[in-house]
Amino acid sequence: MKIIKTIAEFRKLRPKLTAPVGFVPTMGYLHEGHLVLVRRARAENPSVAVSIFVNPTQFGPKEDFAHYPRDPQRDLALLEKEGTDIVFMPSAEEIYPPDFNSWVEVGKLAGKLEGAARPGHFRGVATVVAKLFNIVQPDRAYFGQKDAQQLLVIKKMTADLDMNLEIVAVPTVREPDGLAMSSRNTYLNAGERKQAAVLYQALNLAQKLYSGGEKDAKAILKQMTALIQQQPLADIEYISIADADTLDELDRVKPSALVSLAVRFGNTRLIDNVAVG
Ligand code: AMP
Repeated sequence: MKIIKTIAEFRKLRPKLTAPVGFVPTMGYLHEGHLVLVRRARAENPSVAVSIFVNPTQFGPKEDFAHYPRDPQRDLALLEKEGTDIVFMPSAEEIYPPDFNSWVEVGKLAGKLEGAARPGHFRGVATVVAKLFNIVQPDRAYFGQKDAQQLLVIKKMTADLDMNLEIVAVPTVREPDGLAMSSRNTYLNAGERKQAAVLYQALNLAQKLYSGGEKDAKAILKQMTALIQQQPLADIEYISIADADTLDELDRVKPSALVSLAVRFGNTRLIDNVAVG
């Protein structure tokens, strides 16, 4: 496994990689959710590159960039075990030199849900992913459905900007109680961690109500809200039932609608989603 820290080094190595090249961008502090992406990339491509980069531009000024968990040595050991060929771990200065001044803005889609709650977040995500795609030049890139809106934004960016690669979506990996795996779960104290299982319960409730014939979004949202509010540490930021392609809110729930939520437990903000039907 080669560890590469500069763009120049990556460019030198790139022509030697056997195509197709599978790429998994991450912010590190790897868990099983990330490793499933790496395994999928490993199974589908003769060359696998993984990036570890905590991208400062996708964090708001009051968000957790400085505290985001980091453990590069452990990450490298995990990636080695998965048979990763290349790990790209640039510094912030390598990606954003002092005179950096170009941004990728994905329109309407990026302004909803997470984009509304975290202004500038998807501008940072789209910009860094575009840069990583230009550096790595992958044939396929792997993203988790855990971040469903991110996946949509990246797909839209690649289509609109004619980026020549395939975006592969990978299902969410969960803890035994249903909590979606996330590097941010390490922030939760024992009480918060226990109550956080309610997020998946609420998403399952939406599934169940929909399958049972309830198609009124308001009615489903009301029951989800009531269930989450039974956990005293849960502070709901949003719950949404939206069209899976446009993210427009739905009045009548239709097949494969995206049910998504953002809920705070103390200082920790968790997101999760399911597609109904
Ligand atoms: P992150 O390190 O949080 O930026 O995540 C890197 C990639 O891993 C993104 O494509 C995420 O959607 C994906 N990912 C994170 N958590 C999970 C999970 N629990 N299941 C599947 N994919 C995940």
